[in-house]
Amino acid sequence: MSLANDLSLLSSQARAFLDADHALFIDGREIGAESGKRLDVVDPSSGEVVATIADAGAADVDRAIAAARRAFTDSAWSKLRPFQREAIMLRLASLIEAETASLAQIETVNSGKLIGNTLLFDAELPVHTLRYFAGWATKLHGETMDLSVPYLPQLRFDGLTKRAPIGVVAAITPWNVPLCQAVWKLAPVLATGCTLVLKPAEQTSLTALRLAQLCAEAGLPDGVFNVVTGSGAGAGAALANHPGIDKISFTGSTAIGRQIAESAARRLGKYTLELGGKSPVVIAPDADLDQAIPGAAWAIFGNHGQNCCAGSRLIAHASIFEEVVAGVVKIGRELVMGPGLDPGSMLGPMVSQRHRDRVAGFVDRARADGAVVHGGETIAGAGAYISPAVITGVPIDHEAAQEEIFGPVQCAFAYHDDVEAIRLANATQYGLGASIWTSSITTQQRYFDAFDAGTVWVNTHNILDLALPFGGMRQSGVGHELGKEGLLAHTKLKASVILNQA
Ligand code: NAP
Repeated sequence: MSLANDLSLLSSQARAFLDADHALFIDGREIGAESGKRLDVVDPSSGEVVATIADAGAADVDRAIAAARRAFTDSAWSKLRPFQREAIMLRLASLIEAETASLAQIETVNSGKLIGNTLLFDAELPVHTLRYFAGWATKLHGETMDLSVPYLPQLRFDGLTKRAPIGVVAAITPWNVPLCQAVWKLAPVLATGCTLVLKPAEQTSLTALRLAQLCAEAGLPDGVFNVVTGSGAGAGAALANHPGIDKISFTGSTAIGRQIAESAARRLGKYTLELGGKSPVVIAPDADLDQAIPGAAWAIFGNHGQNCCAGSRLIAHASIFEEVVAGVVKIGRELVMGPGLDPGSMLGPMVSQRHRDRVAGFVDRARADGAVVHGGETIAGAGAYISPAVITGVPIDHEAAQEEIFGPVQCAFAYHDDVEAIRLANATQYGLGASIWTSSITTQQRYFDAFDAGTVWVNTHNILDLALPFGGMRQSGVGHELGKEGLLAHTKLKASVILNQA
């Protein structure tokens, strides 16, 4: 049986976009990389090349940053009023909304993800994101205050603060929710009046290029949004190390995030890092298991485990441990694996063969170390498939319980009291998300306080909202994305003192 996407299911719009020549998008125009180099774009369900993209180098990044700088300082963009930026953002949202089906199909073929997932998260969520942040464009404000200045009692002063746009922003994004990530970077940039150079993951750059075309159609002035496709070591590093950027917003692995922070620190630049996770799912003995077992399964199997907040560590009370593990294993076994374009598929391929082999490596080594592994079989053929896996019997310091596998692999542990559960939950370098499943308000409160994680879910997992700041603790990141905090991270705060002569 073939597990490859049936490309005849593509709409003519999606097909035409895949077949088009893909260039960089700089200063409102599509132009090739100066080197002329190209990279293949592969459908992970088949291993087939479905498109190629330009492989940008340092010279292309220079051009993109120069365009973003011009747009920020001299162009029509810097003169627009907040309500005009809002109007452009709302137009862009409507243009995306009009082609969600085709955007989702492109993303599915490019990333391997299920069509229902790409429709919801890579096509529709960007529409909501733009509309949410468009509302902020007219609501950014500073404060006024009556100053004391105690050392000059004979004079009075008024104080005011202003939120100014931070300037030229560089963004680098991963492949797991490609268009969603691109718009999470773009929307606060537009709302605050900044400009952006985006380097999407080389595996999944296509929808960012379509987004750039739609920006132009929506009336965004040239140079406000630029896309440089290419490799992390090439275009990514050139962007991250560029002296012409005012802020870098990075989403990706902790290892690369650390390099980005080091580079930003050298030039004293601003940065936001949204990094990896190893999120715990704690199930208390009083939890409703009809909710908690599917919840624990979807916490890890959703998006094939390629989620920064994936519930990759299951920590269940010893009295229910066997039942919970058996339930999650059963759900994993029942998931129908198949290509993302097939609406009957419940688990698609990993993003690439290379990533699938990395995930399988963790499973194989856990098995070799004496763990009990349920599932985790790779499927022969060109597609990057691996079946869901639940691992028991590894110590908490085993690599399978410590490292971000970024696949449908969950390690399970039993606990006997809250102290032990909290110790296990916090026993990694990461602190992105954590969930507690319980019917007791006291237990909810205890774990909310005790989890060292940026987002704590109660009787749910992996739910994010545009209004809620999202960020990681410890090695999971620096700063926040989304919400008011994510918006303000694109501003610089200026203060002014005015002699009051009234
Ligand atoms: P990654 O290897 O760190 O890559 C992320 C991005 O960085 C890609 O665009 C990559 O380019 C680029 N890059 C690689 N090396 C670079 C360098 N030396 N300088 C500048 N940029 C460089 O991560 P990934 O494997 O794509 O994505 C998975 C990771 O993202 C996981 O750790 C996951 O937890 C994390 N993530 C976090 C969040 C969050 O909000 N906290 C959300 C989603 C994903 P190429 O791909 O072209 O090499």
